[in-house]
Amino acid sequence: MKKVIVTGGAGFIGSHTVVELVNAGYEPIILDNFSNSDERIIKQLEQLLDQEIEVHNIDCTKEQQLARFFLLEGNIHGIIHFAAHKAVGESVKDPLKYYRNNLISLMNLIKLMKESEVKNLVFSSSCTVYGEPDTTVVTEKSPRKEAASPYGNTKRISEDIIIDSSIAGDLSAAVLRYFNPIGAHPSGLIGELPLGVPNNLVPYLTQVAAGQRECLTIFGDDYDTPDGTCIRDYIHVVDLAKAHVNALQWLEKNPGACDTFNIGTGNGHSVLELVNSFEKVNDISLNRTIGEKRPGDVSAIYADSEKAEQILNWQAELSMADALKDAWTWQTYLKNNW
Ligand code: UDP
Repeated sequence: MKKVIVTGGAGFIGSHTVVELVNAGYEPIILDNFSNSDERIIKQLEQLLDQEIEVHNIDCTKEQQLARFFLLEGNIHGIIHFAAHKAVGESVKDPLKYYRNNLISLMNLIKLMKESEVKNLVFSSSCTVYGEPDTTVVTEKSPRKEAASPYGNTKRISEDIIIDSSIAGDLSAAVLRYFNPIGAHPSGLIGELPLGVPNNLVPYLTQVAAGQRECLTIFGDDYDTPDGTCIRDYIHVVDLAKAHVNALQWLEKNPGACDTFNIGTGNGHSVLELVNSFEKVNDISLNRTIGEKRPGDVSAIYADSEKAEQILNWQAELSMADALKDAWTWQTYLKNNW
């Protein structure tokens, strides 16, 4: 079986990708330092997949730890690199933490890939590289704008590091620009586990629905959109996870390739639409209020994901309603079992 290293494999998108790798016949190996994930997720994964998963507690910024792993493991087919800090607000307060962690871990991995002749890299980038876009729908050719935060800047710089390394012949890469991942595995066994107060809409909303938080604040209702709330492209995490498998398969068929792909549904939904849909599919009434705009929020952005469809043969299949149902199943599981 082809061994695929999944850094950050205990995290939200990483854990779902581990499931899809197994479903596609790969052998995922998780590297995670559990700085923003919970070790219990591994047991959950093993229950879901009915098999053991190899896990190493490794911090990718520690080159020696990583080098030892590469040496002992051998015969690595590819790497899917998720391990990174991701809180926008924290990155503004502590930029060095973000530059150090997100960039050093990537550079360590690329160096070791080169030394061990591991060619295939799938990288988690973000639509944040488009900044405040000129058009609501963005293609991969839309200009990258100045990053609104150090976090966003680490994604932009990481993309450049990968492109330059590929030009130098060190690796083949698929850079995936995620839109807004939401939902959870339909089994209800894995999902998002935010530490502390969630920054993102759906985990906050499910905690309000579960009675853990009092009220959802909708950040602004006077944006220049049909209902005044921001528009995003919400993608089911299982669809997003599958995109990584397709990207890996594309790299296998195209040695030396390096390209960037939007991974979104191609549909925009407003915050109000999402909240109303959550209430409808789960038959729950949410305590909510309208608050101030959140600084730095773009009014509307969604993906043109035609390129991923054409080249990676990937397309989102699940709806926002599916994701909101699965997110609630997961929240309910957490309430009863965690
Ligand atoms: N949002 C909100 N209330 C919250 C969290 C988020 O109204 O408690 C809005 C936010 O302003 C944005 C959308 O939900 O329009 C998605 O925000 P999120 O943080 O989930 O993702 P982002 O698009 O910022 O990466």
